[in-house]
Amino acid sequence: KGNYIRRYAFYDKKLRDSILGEQELKIDMHGALEKEQFEIYIQPKCKMEGKQVIGGESLVRWLHPVKGMISPKDFIPLFEKSGFIVKLDAYVWEKTCQLIAKWKKEGHEITPLSVNVSRINFFNPKLCDQLLELVQKYDIDPKYLELEVTESVYIQEATLIYGVLEKLQSLGFHILMDDFGSGYSSLNMLKDAPVDIIKLDLRFLSGDDKKGRGRDILSAVVQMAKVLRLQVIAEGVETEEQAKFLKDIQCDYAQGYYYSRPVPVDTFEKMVY
Ligand code: C2E
Ligand code: MG
Ligand code: MG
Ligand code: MG
Repeated sequence: KGNYIRRYAFYDKKLRDSILGEQELKIDMHGALEKEQFEIYIQPKCKMEGKQVIGGESLVRWLHPVKGMISPKDFIPLFEKSGFIVKLDAYVWEKTCQLIAKWKKEGHEITPLSVNVSRINFFNPKLCDQLLELVQKYDIDPKYLELEVTESVYIQEATLIYGVLEKLQSLGFHILMDDFGSGYSSLNMLKDAPVDIIKLDLRFLSGDDKKGRGRDILSAVVQMAKVLRLQVIAEGVETEEQAKFLKDIQCDYAQGYYYSRPVPVDTFEKMVY
């Protein structure tokens, strides 16, 4: 019995901590945008051959005055629950457009940047207009602002998102399916999914691969994407061995710690220009 109580108390404390932590973040998030506590980091996307940087992904960080730098994994779920993610995403998209516009003004050859689009945004009927107005405001070609939608949203919200994504494609935006392979994506889905680029996440191939099937599947997916005229980028590439394998199976692009971690904007600019 005593044991039961101790365990109960342990779980209770953990639960309380997590609720208190969430409560605090919830209170802080509203002021955080105005106080400019959110910062964009960019992770380079590289050509496998020669490691040339061909693009980047904008990833948000919360520079919390007390808790320090907080990873999106620790606040995105909370922000999605409260709906605040819509405001934060719009902020990240705008900062990203400002950056692209700056490069254009400086006469650089523009590096496309992708942004993440949370599933909650698709409940906003003005999503397309909002994105279009944004690229028009900064006078940039929509192809430079790539949109990442995670695979599970394609699966769970197909009826909600297909029309919207097709409209965005017709406006010139490029659509990436993020985290491909993380869920139960079927080949059938790719038949009519509105997508231009598939992001294959290597991290989902964890565990050993005694039969070599994991590698064969990756290789087949890359070939299939090519047949479907979709671009493929491998994500979560951490080792030279993985990079070599990806080259062998003719995967053309990669993103991962092996090439670079997400870096502050000025560091990214130094890498590219
Ligand atoms: P994601 O969109 O799949 O972004 C890639 C995540 O993988 C990033 O984590 C990146 O730092 C991490 N990563 C990249 N290469 C490697 C690698 O080689 N190994 C490992 N272990 N990890 C790698 P991050 O920045 O913590 O973001 C996590 C997730 O939070 C993102 O996953 C995305 O779903 C979400 N997120 C980030 N920024 C935003 C945003 O502005 N809006 C929305 N809605 N979601 C965001
Ligand atoms: Mg992403
Ligand atoms: Mg991903
Ligand atoms: Mg990922």
